Amino acid sequence: QATIKSTARDPYPDWKAGDPVPYAALCTTFSLIELTTKRLQITAYCSAFLQQVLRLTPQDLLPTIQLMLNKLAADYAGIELGIGESLIMKAIGESSGRSLSVIKSDHQKIGDLGLVAAKSKSKQGQMFKPKPLSVRGVHQGLLDIAKMEGHGSQDQKVRAINKLMAAADVSSSNKTVDITKDKGGPSEAKFLVRFLEGKLRLGLAEKTVIIALAQAVVTHEVAVKGKVPSTEQLAKGEAELKTVYSELPSYEVIIPAMLEHGIFNLHESCKLQPGVPLKPMLAKPTKSITEVLDRFEGKNFTCEYKYDGERAQIHYVSPEAMSEFPAAANTLSKDPKHFKGLAAIFSRNSEDLSKKYPDILEKLNAWIKPSTKSFVLDCETVAWDPQNKKVLPFQQLMTRKRKDVKTSEVTVKVCVFAFDMLFYNGEPLVKKTFRERRELLHNAFDPVEGEFGYAQYGDAKDIDEIQHLLDDSVKASCEGLMVKMLDTEESGYEPSKRSRNWLKVKKDYLNGVGDSLDLVVLGAYHGRGKRTSWFGAFLLASWNPETQIFETVCNIGTGFSEAVLEEFHKELSEIIIERPKPFYSHSSVKNDQPDVWFEPRFVWEVKTADLTLSPRYRAAIDEMGGKNGISLRFPRFIQKREDKKPEDATTTSAIAEMYRKQEVIAKEGKSKGVDD
Ligand code: ATP
Repeated sequence: QATIKSTARDPYPDWKAGDPVPYAALCTTFSLIELTTKRLQITAYCSAFLQQVLRLTPQDLLPTIQLMLNKLAADYAGIELGIGESLIMKAIGESSGRSLSVIKSDHQKIGDLGLVAAKSKSKQGQMFKPKPLSVRGVHQGLLDIAKMEGHGSQDQKVRAINKLMAAADVSSSNKTVDITKDKGGPSEAKFLVRFLEGKLRLGLAEKTVIIALAQAVVTHEVAVKGKVPSTEQLAKGEAELKTVYSELPSYEVIIPAMLEHGIFNLHESCKLQPGVPLKPMLAKPTKSITEVLDRFEGKNFTCEYKYDGERAQIHYVSPEAMSEFPAAANTLSKDPKHFKGLAAIFSRNSEDLSKKYPDILEKLNAWIKPSTKSFVLDCETVAWDPQNKKVLPFQQLMTRKRKDVKTSEVTVKVCVFAFDMLFYNGEPLVKKTFRERRELLHNAFDPVEGEFGYAQYGDAKDIDEIQHLLDDSVKASCEGLMVKMLDTEESGYEPSKRSRNWLKVKKDYLNGVGDSLDLVVLGAYHGRGKRTSWFGAFLLASWNPETQIFETVCNIGTGFSEAVLEEFHKELSEIIIERPKPFYSHSSVKNDQPDVWFEPRFVWEVKTADLTLSPRYRAAIDEMGGKNGISLRFPRFIQKREDKKPEDATTTSAIAEMYRKQEVIAKEGKSKGVDD
């Protein structure tokens, strides 16, 4: 017992064994994290807190982790709060008895709704003290809010937020919060509002939470035996949890299993399985075929066509295999008329796309071989022209409705092109080589033209052969090639990783920085001349997953047709906010401000001639020495990426990598004395 005490510092002393985890305790930890940017320190705070949860109230570990991650459930559950700024302001006003105009003017001055809530709360006297908030109570309350929909749901949501707000900070509500001095401190109202806004602003990346969780569980397990964990034990636990989570990204499954069986053999009880979508493996961009050859020198590799559609992960369990995966029925759907068993299609973000592609699900039986009993398939859905029997551009696919599609109303037909298989007949395949996985894949299905096919590939070896294949892929209406490691351990499937073992070569790689960028629209400028009724230019940003901040990267006004500008004016006008969110990093110079700011919602694909440094933008500014950010020169709008969320936008570190590559090439060009 003594050892347990000495290894776990208690960040919150007033909570006793068996009590629900006090929300105030979590907020105390958040406020400690908020005061530092040091990753190790953040991890230590999280881990100490989680150790306390494990000792006192382990049954609350799951909601604690979810609140730390600003997530109410796994992505595939499709639960989103979807609460705009105006609703939050209304709730802050109503719960604190302050008028909306006062809240708005505070927001203008302070710029952070969380702090506005903390300030409103501290001014409020309370006659009757409600019961203090608990982590499980807040989690449930927020979940209820997320599920409210339909007529009158907005008012219902405001009332439910009020209820939570009224119970926030009950033990400290008479203290005046000095927001200029302590960032609002551990105020529960502040963190509640930030959760509702979708960003806790703690720089608490999921990676860090996973490490802290592993450390806490290892320390707790070892401490129960009266010992202190060794470095090896901590590293082993961390590796175990990371691997298991990448293959089975569901805290709902992993946390109960870990509490029951411990962390060290987690992989035995938590395996990749149909029903839990995993984050797909991603590719690194390249600028030239020689770059590909340099990377794969002396290794076996293969070149596949890069189809231009939407990433899809198809999960399937046949009726015979259903008893092996009892939980699959929670996420996969039944359709006894068309296919027997369970199936679903998930997006790259693990959202359920089954209602978007019922036409694919209805045809499953036509291409699944009878010997195939269960699988997880990695593929691309592509718009298909049945008359000319060819692939159509991505834009065609995007004209399909996203929800509640009826097969009889489908006008844009799709074909599935499969390129990888992650699970087959009861067995995870991710550790196998790509050659082995591909062989299993090609034996599991019967291709049907226009409905299901395998990604075309060739085993080109030198520049000329690769160039030839690239030309062929373009003729077949593809975007270019995906070059993949074929043998050895390196060719295993790496979920959620942008890996050097997959390289993409796009057809137009020579005229640009190697790849287009996917950027988030943060603001806009009113149009002039012909564009007076719409926005004429937009402010775009990249995403920094480490700090959880959108960093501006360029203004863009080229590549838009009038029809597109009209459409964007309409949809963006609905998400105008009064001032930039505190998690936007942008220029503070007065003349550089856009006329309007938006909620972070839309992702656009943009091409650029090259990258340059500029004091006006903030992308990768820290990596570039703190003075200039990276910016795009002559950016051009290509298309909307409705399949991506703002957090899937090109990362600032990817932009920094592109910039560094460009600089190396420029230097090499100069030193070799190449003239034009
Ligand atoms: P992009 O904007 O180029 O599609 P991305 O960020 O969506 O990029 P990347 O990993 O950079 O994803 O590029 C790979 C994408 O290409 C995959 O996500 C997938 O949707 C698509 N794709 C098409 N054909 C293949 C293939 N044969 N193998 C792997 N991915 C493929």
